[in-house]
Amino acid sequence: MAAKNMDIVPLYEWGMFTEPRPSVIAGPCSAESEEQVMETAAGLKRIGINVYRAGIWKPRTHPGSFEGVGTQGLEWLRKAKQEYGLKISTEVASERHVRECLKAGVDLVWLGARTTANPFLVQELADALKGTDIPVMVKNPVNHDLDLWVGALERLSRAGIRKLGVIHRGFSTFDKIKYRNDPQWQAAIEMRSRYPEIPFFVDPSHMAGCCDYIREISQRSLDLGFEGLMIESHCNPSAALSDARQQLTPDQLGDLLYNQIVVRDSDSDAPEWKDNIDQLRAKIDIIDENILYSLASRMKISGQIGEYKKNNNIAILQTSRWDAVLAKVEERGREYGLSEKFLKTLFAAIHEASVDVQNEIISKQK
Ligand code: PEP
Ligand code: MN
Repeated sequence: MAAKNMDIVPLYEWGMFTEPRPSVIAGPCSAESEEQVMETAAGLKRIGINVYRAGIWKPRTHPGSFEGVGTQGLEWLRKAKQEYGLKISTEVASERHVRECLKAGVDLVWLGARTTANPFLVQELADALKGTDIPVMVKNPVNHDLDLWVGALERLSRAGIRKLGVIHRGFSTFDKIKYRNDPQWQAAIEMRSRYPEIPFFVDPSHMAGCCDYIREISQRSLDLGFEGLMIESHCNPSAALSDARQQLTPDQLGDLLYNQIVVRDSDSDAPEWKDNIDQLRAKIDIIDENILYSLASRMKISGQIGEYKKNNNIAILQTSRWDAVLAKVEERGREYGLSEKFLKTLFAAIHEASVDVQNEIISKQK
């Protein structure tokens, strides 16, 4: 993969975020009316938010859904900036959006997940942003494709954008999961390790899709050492014209940030190793989850094989097949540097559980 060495300005030099973590961008999914923009801004200012978000042009799946108020909303954002001293931000998806944002004094723009997936649009935006000093954040593409994400960063970097950050909002998935978008934390970790200098935000609102999971996702992001959170907040979430289920009131957001999430110290009185060990443990937790998921998937297939054997009147235990599995596992395991003893024990246990599952199926239908 190309494009190491992007020239990146550190987050705390962008002039809008200050340590300690998390840096927060908050505001409604969409600007809906002047009153809603101003009331939400007032609430967020009260809880100490400095960077305000609101979608002006909304990329919606179906035509006829609320597609944003358009340019007039920029005036409301400008008013919130003047009245409350907030920095203002919105999503851009065309050259015209960029032009209008620059004219309105927008302080930060981001590329949405649907835009990052389209190199033509990304290039159009990079060209429009060339020569400006505005911070640009890039959400991950809707589908799980890190190269598209990196490609968008490269295009912006080549256009001279140096205040460049990423926002992880999860990937769409066909699997049934409790979140709206699949976090795929390994992908986030991979991005972070490839580009440790790029400021990294997580968007728990779009990842969760509902308020119940915003806390756990925010906590995990902090535990993984990411700098910031983009969280949707609306003065009256149930009346929101888009993403009503996932928006917190400003007070709920304040409670989340100050009472519910634990921010690990990273300054001098907290030893550095503590921060590192927390991050390593968070990685282990994710890997353990993946191991469990893989084991459960394996057992499900064992069950299907059991059914199939039963229908074809075949014995459960076929030692030649098992010997072949074990030989392959040992060979692969050796390549990974895993000990033979460990693999034998592990796979004996897996095999035993698998045979149990199949036995249960056969005996049930006798
Ligand atoms: C948004 O931030 O309002 C938005 C549309 O998000 P995403 O691009 O992540 O779907
Ligand atoms: Mn939204």
